[in-house]
Amino acid sequence: MANLSLKHVYKVYLDGTMAVSNFDLEIEEGEFVILVGPSGCGKSTTLRMIAGLEDITAGDLYVAGKYANLMEPKDRNMAMVFQNYALYPHMNVYENMAFGLRIKHLDKTSIDNRVKNAAEILGLTSQLEKKPKDMSGGQRQRVALGRAIVRNPSVFLLDEPLSNLDAKLRASMRTEIKRLHNTLKTTFIYVTHDQIEAMTMGTKIVVMNKGVIQQVDSPMNLYDYPCNMFVAGFIGTPQMNFFDATIFVDETTLKLRLGDNLLSCPLALFRKLDLLEVFQNPNVKLGIRPEHMRLADESVPNDQCLLVNVNLVEALGNETVVEGTIKGSEHQISIKINRNDLIKEGSEIKISIDFSKIHIFSKETTNSICPRIPTHNYLKFSNNLFGKKFIFPKKLFDALSEYKDLYIEFPIDAVIKGDDYCASVLSCELTNQGFYLLELQLKGGQILFAVSEENISAGDYHFSIKQENISFYNHVDKVLSSIPRFNHVRGKLVPNKRPVLTGKKMKKRKVFDYSILGVCIRPNDESVNKIYALLGKKFHLHDIDFSFSPDDVSIAEEGIKATLQNIIKYSDNSIFGVFKHDDVDIVVKLESDSLNIGQETHLAINAEKIKVRDVNFDVIII
Ligand code: ADP
Repeated sequence: MANLSLKHVYKVYLDGTMAVSNFDLEIEEGEFVILVGPSGCGKSTTLRMIAGLEDITAGDLYVAGKYANLMEPKDRNMAMVFQNYALYPHMNVYENMAFGLRIKHLDKTSIDNRVKNAAEILGLTSQLEKKPKDMSGGQRQRVALGRAIVRNPSVFLLDEPLSNLDAKLRASMRTEIKRLHNTLKTTFIYVTHDQIEAMTMGTKIVVMNKGVIQQVDSPMNLYDYPCNMFVAGFIGTPQMNFFDATIFVDETTLKLRLGDNLLSCPLALFRKLDLLEVFQNPNVKLGIRPEHMRLADESVPNDQCLLVNVNLVEALGNETVVEGTIKGSEHQISIKINRNDLIKEGSEIKISIDFSKIHIFSKETTNSICPRIPTHNYLKFSNNLFGKKFIFPKKLFDALSEYKDLYIEFPIDAVIKGDDYCASVLSCELTNQGFYLLELQLKGGQILFAVSEENISAGDYHFSIKQENISFYNHVDKVLSSIPRFNHVRGKLVPNKRPVLTGKKMKKRKVFDYSILGVCIRPNDESVNKIYALLGKKFHLHDIDFSFSPDDVSIAEEGIKATLQNIIKYSDNSIFGVFKHDDVDIVVKLESDSLNIGQETHLAINAEKIKVRDVNFDVIII
């Protein structure tokens, strides 16, 4: 079981500052987790909510499996170490470490044992008589750590503990803290704004920006597979270069236009590239790290090089950083080159690019469109794409027959173990989301990504595809939609005075119901309290996006009035009904096809399963 679990946690300060938004994280016992991001991104607030020093506005915190939002800080068995170590100046090291234990009335022998043990771990045994003023910054920080260790906590919370130290001391204390974690084998949560500190210390790094988690990953994955431009720019020095580029793809080649330059490389280097996104939005942001380029010799073809006018040459000793402008564009570029490459400011140089290391981002969302874990497959369709005739209801196939340039698109988790088709396993890698990513090669050569619960070794893989998750495209235009995973309906929260469980008491107070397509649905008290905590008394002014899966709506005696428009039957016997209420479509998984098209009925939504997103704040509340 996770030692700490944060589920959809929000913090809104009294002045309205949304410091932390939808923070979702599981921390296993003994993990070393780092929260990193620029100043003001909500790291300390998160740490303080975990410690119990700050109220949680909405969302849930569990400590060792127990609901802990309201747990007293002292009952959480956590110890915090701050940037300013706040040692008592009049006490010596021993007394500083012993003080907290004395207050807890621990007996003398236990205190002595714990202090001496901590001093031993931290190399402070010979310093126990010293006063803080006679010690260096590093030693004082060690005493502050000692004060935490003697408490024997199950979680250490460290808030920028090294930022008062000079660079050299910081580097040695980093090693010290890692060693301490190895010795104590306790959960550490460490906050820093310094990406180098994060990369060198953590095994699980949480990158935050503006109160929102951007990516949770290992240092290597953050560097190799940043999920968006923020993470890409935050990790690595000098920063990744970003350029506006236009992308063209044919069967085998990927071409990039960058100012006057046209670069070309094998498409096989980009197996995870989201081709649908590229076809729809060929104008992208290209990311290249300075260390993934080098001086090219004359023999390198022009379509693999950039010409750069050199503005500045910075020799750093073991390497040299060149700042320049890409010829035929306004783009500034940083390049790390070998210290022996002699380059003059004002000259023109030819640079080759390691295409296997480039990054491509959507200009619109700034998200990577060649991510480590692709979200969906997009494949050129033919009847025997999967090695044998594709099974799909004839009625749906007939609807598609008029299109020539058909593509098929479905999420990677729509590929399930089964016996319809077969492909060969190219790779199987464990993701940080608890599943394996399978890369499969179809008989015709196309690549298919799938998820697997278990590690799959090389060889044949037998699979089926969840048909209701498939969409068809005529190149980039959607011609047949999959069954949506969620129905989305715009609605409001409407006041309703009734008793609600608030804290431990039932209190009659002004709360609200969900108003969805003219019907009031009563949420449970926990949901009411969460939404109320975030939106406050003006809840009725907010626009709400209610969403619910087709599995969570059913035909009922009363509820939302709707007319059946269409029935879709798949060959795996699942049946879906598309209903209309005014101009809103609602898709429902049906037990049978007993209703007739055009028939009016009522739909009931399972209130417990409704997801709530505040449209004005753009936050998912439940
Ligand atoms: P970080 O630790 O990443 O530097 P913080 O968690 O300290 O960030 O702050 C996150 C945001 O919350 C910032 O915009 C900060 O100004 C704001 N903030 C922090 N404490 C308070 C407070 N007590 N009242 C109002 N706003 C606050």
